[in-house]
Amino acid sequence: KKPMEMKKFLDEYIIGQDEAKKVLSVAVYNHYKRLQYKSENVGSNNDIEIEKSNIVMVGETGTGKTLLAKTIAKMLNVPFTIVDATVFTEAGYVGEDVESILTRLLQVCNYDVTAAERGIVYIDEIDKIARKGDNPSITRDVSGEGVQQGMLKLLEGTDVLVPPQGGRKHPEQKLIKINTQNILFICGGAFDGIDKIIGRRVQTNTIGFNVDKDLQENMKKNLLRYVNAQDLKMFGLIPELLGRLPVVTHLDPLDAETLRAILVEPKNALIKQYVRLFELEGIKLTIEPEVYDFMVDKAVEYKLGARGLRSICESI
Ligand code: ADP
Repeated sequence: KKPMEMKKFLDEYIIGQDEAKKVLSVAVYNHYKRLQYKSENVGSNNDIEIEKSNIVMVGETGTGKTLLAKTIAKMLNVPFTIVDATVFTEAGYVGEDVESILTRLLQVCNYDVTAAERGIVYIDEIDKIARKGDNPSITRDVSGEGVQQGMLKLLEGTDVLVPPQGGRKHPEQKLIKINTQNILFICGGAFDGIDKIIGRRVQTNTIGFNVDKDLQENMKKNLLRYVNAQDLKMFGLIPELLGRLPVVTHLDPLDAETLRAILVEPKNALIKQYVRLFELEGIKLTIEPEVYDFMVDKAVEYKLGARGLRSICESI
């Protein structure tokens, strides 16, 4: 599939978030192209090596980061897995080793190493392993910086020894060797408070006598649009890690209009699901426009993004 077609597919399930959809579609498309190019050029002395571009998505909770990753997975036939960065700690501490990210990938393809080596991994909550404080290692930061360090070699593309059952590595265990050079990593996180960091950076560039007030107000509305690697570094991701995640994209916060669209428009929209559920009972469910307004108002109030919609429906 071409990137345009991929984006069309994503459009069926996800409302808005055009920027993130485009970036993801192109990245995934290129990922495939690389794999193909590699296998076609085995043995020939073609010396241009196309490197993969891992991705970071920044966006508030409930705006569709995981949904994007899942929908991409639905479209693909490469192994795909979602892992949560919060469970990892630096090697030797209570928690899981970062290598178990690859264990999960192996499990979804029944321990077929060749298949796993072409897979895609979505790492959720990447912001939770940000360095605590700007003070490098007075006390050890085993679930923050330590994990970031551990992830470096994974993201870069080397041979990694993976414990087949996940969890912690121990000496008597037989380990499986995986090369991560062709595995695409997509990271996502809410990065709470990063808008202030972005704001500071953007503002310093626009101070002066000729500042366009309207433009500035407009910029303030969705600062995430301007996110870049510099801001992520300020937030606490180490430069080495950021260097291995060259593509940074964002998801927009959901306004009332978008939330309403999310209720009814996607292919498996919530309301469509409830209508079907009642249909199975032989009941025709109709919902008045005021009810939609009410649900959207509540969802905006709870600040849970689209995630709040479901519990509101349930309680009604
Ligand atoms: P997060 O950004 O925190 O990973 P999720 O992707 O898990 O959020 O979103 C939670 C739920 O909200 C999804 O399962 C989906 O039903 C709904 N949702 C969120 N954003 C969108 C969107 N842009 N379009 C359609 N549904 C969405």
